[in-house]
Amino acid sequence: MSEDKFALPENFGKLLSQTFDKAVETDYIAFTPSTSEILDVDGVKFQLTQIDSLSRRPTKGSLDANPFANPEPELTVVQSYVDYRIVLNKFPVVRDHFMLVTSKFVSQDTPLTPVDLQATYHTLLAANKGTGERHFAFFNCGPESGASQPHKHIQFMRLPALSTGFVPFPDLLAMSSPAFIPTSTQEPLQRKDLPFAHFVAAFPSPAEIAALGQGLDEEAFGLYFISLLQRVMTIMRENDVSSPSYNFVMTEKWMMLVPRSLGYFTDGDLLLGVNSCGVLGLVLVKNRMLYELVKAKGPAEILGQLGFPNTSGIASDEYHY
Ligand code: AMP
Ligand code: AMP
Repeated sequence: MSEDKFALPENFGKLLSQTFDKAVETDYIAFTPSTSEILDVDGVKFQLTQIDSLSRRPTKGSLDANPFANPEPELTVVQSYVDYRIVLNKFPVVRDHFMLVTSKFVSQDTPLTPVDLQATYHTLLAANKGTGERHFAFFNCGPESGASQPHKHIQFMRLPALSTGFVPFPDLLAMSSPAFIPTSTQEPLQRKDLPFAHFVAAFPSPAEIAALGQGLDEEAFGLYFISLLQRVMTIMRENDVSSPSYNFVMTEKWMMLVPRSLGYFTDGDLLLGVNSCGVLGLVLVKNRMLYELVKAKGPAEILGQLGFPNTSGIASDEYHY
């Protein structure tokens, strides 16, 4: 498949923010700036953010009232890109929060395909280009993943600025290791000291890609993803889970999968939904009580209860789908 098919407009970043500003001005998007703070748990950074407007976001979508069947034109950034539309999130967490939404209905419970992954990678590069900012893509898959809409959508958000002190923990893992080779017995990266299983594959560096003489293609992304998904499916099988749930996060440097056992953390009447952003360390709450709850319980502890035990150090021959 030709690379050109995945090219986005040169000025994609500008197009995004112009569409966002217009949608806010005309009230198609209600965006309220948030308050946040950085928590450091043994060197792992978490950003805790409170956004009151999140209470207006629908918690469960349905096929009958599917907002992605015909997205609002005012929210649409690119009408046709490969097999997708590029649409702004109506209930954004940060400015320019957007999504790749499949043009035709595809279930959110299906795994990402090589084309999904290649389109995601190119969209990340286009969103980063010339902006001095980094974005991440995420995909909440399965009933306990924090997903709310059944129509396939991959979301994109800007990472917090370096000046906030937030560093996504997979960045540190990827920096400390050579690129992942999905066909070998090399294990994906996993931090021992986090209380939940997570599987990180580092991509080759730009210099390594240049030496190979070709960019990362659909096949490479497909192999990375399948290799991580195998580890997730092993855990699901061992725990007799019939409908697997996981979070997927990707930047221009790595991809990560996190198997999920529960979508919500509960404490008495308090209910805290956690999706892919949360497993990356970006924890979002809708009100002050939940904010205090996360601080009191600790974000890493909470994630430990919503995932499966860490498998760091267990070799793949003992541990294969
Ligand atoms: P998830 O919760 O991962 O399934 O993501 C679904 C996203 O769709 C949420 O972040 C919502 O904010 C967003 N959303 C819900 N309704 C609409 C809509 N009508 N147009 C655009 N985005 C929407
Ligand atoms: P709920 O509507 O109760 O499902 O909760 C809001 C959703 O936002 C949950 O799925 C959360 O996991 C998700 N979320 C948590 N942190 C973030 C974040 N930093 N950015 C976007 N969404 C988030």
